[in-house]
Amino acid sequence: MTQRLLFVLAGAAFSWMPAALNAQALVLRPDGVFDGTTPTVHRGWVVVVEGDRIAAAGPERSVRVPRGAREIRLDGLTLMPGLIEGHSHLLLHPYNETSWNHQVLYEGMALRVARAVVAAEATLEAGVTTSRDLGTEGAGYADVGLKQAIERGIISGPRLLIATRAIVATGSYGPKGAPEWSLPLGAEPADGHDDLIRVVRDQIGRGADWIKVYADYRWGPNREARPTFTQAELELIVEIAASSGRPVVAHAASAEGMRRATLAGVATIEHGDGGTDEVFRLMAERGVALCPTLAAGDAILQYGGWRRDIDPEPARITAKRESFRRALAAGVPMCFGGDVGVYPHGDNVRELELMVDYGMAVADVAIAATSGNAGILRLEDRGRVAEGLLADLIAVEGDPTTDIGSLRRVRFVMKGGEVVRDD
Ligand SMILES: [Zn+2]
Repeated sequence: MTQRLLFVLAGAAFSWMPAALNAQALVLRPDGVFDGTTPTVHRGWVVVVEGDRIAAAGPERSVRVPRGAREIRLDGLTLMPGLIEGHSHLLLHPYNETSWNHQVLYEGMALRVARAVVAAEATLEAGVTTSRDLGTEGAGYADVGLKQAIERGIISGPRLLIATRAIVATGSYGPKGAPEWSLPLGAEPADGHDDLIRVVRDQIGRGADWIKVYADYRWGPNREARPTFTQAELELIVEIAASSGRPVVAHAASAEGMRRATLAGVATIEHGDGGTDEVFRLMAERGVALCPTLAAGDAILQYGGWRRDIDPEPARITAKRESFRRALAAGVPMCFGGDVGVYPHGDNVRELELMVDYGMAVADVAIAATSGNAGILRLEDRGRVAEGLLADLIAVEGDPTTDIGSLRRVRFVMKGGEVVRDD
């Protein structure tokens, strides 16, 4: 082989080698490791990171540490997978600051995107390394650009799965109340066979990773949640999305909306307040997960004047506790998805605290927030501390399998092998 050929081959090999092989390896030495699946903390583990991946994880003696690896000591901390938020709206901010109607109608795109940039950074700093953002609520396709800006390293934020505008049935969604005017809506209306096919495909073409559909909405005669799309319409949406390899997520709070969405084959249902035992059993049978958004309901009642821990519990909260308990008892896969944006970005842990408060075991909640959501959101490359997975890791003070409050004490955040935060 000539020298020249060798040079060419070496050059080729170098250029296609992932950055992973070139970067210096890191060895993380925490007090313990919560691996995302085992409901306990492993002591004496080390985790080796090479490039953007976890190269090894396990007891010190069983792990080969590469020569020259840089050591990061995480004394007093538990290392674990980054949190995976299942239901966020980076383009919304808390309703006690500005009502949803006002945000959708009067806040300009630049203002909304500027807020979203700050929200994305706060989210990652809080230990959320992946977020499924479920609709821009009137901010068009701004989530597409946000996701690109994060991927290109222009701004700091979690890895995003996005839904763009989301799909609603004509007449169901807001803002409304001015019958002579066609107000800008918080989502994209579409109805019937041809229109739904076009809109699902259009959102996919503009960047949607998930198709979000509102299977019901508060448009009943007494503003109660009532179904919007027919069974056939929901099935069509799922079929068109599935052709492109994309799952569907349904907003549904009524038993009938949830039933139709489940039968249509959606992957997750959001809110689910009115679920009956029958509907929850159906969801469990079909493997449809529930993002209960406990923190959103809790926040909205507080904005309405309820003083938690002082005033008696509102009936809506008591009912939500009961439906959450029924969903758990039926074996519905439980998603960590709080509808953050209704309450402050970066305060994502609120939802996890409420899942514990409403009756779920702490370790199960910690698993739901990591490997659980990775499974539900079809992200096989993350959610566990295991060889070959993305090095999306956080370290917290305390044991997340026995003390959910430890997730508020995030001291270290790594995304794709890069240290984002190290207090
Ligand atoms: Zn939402």
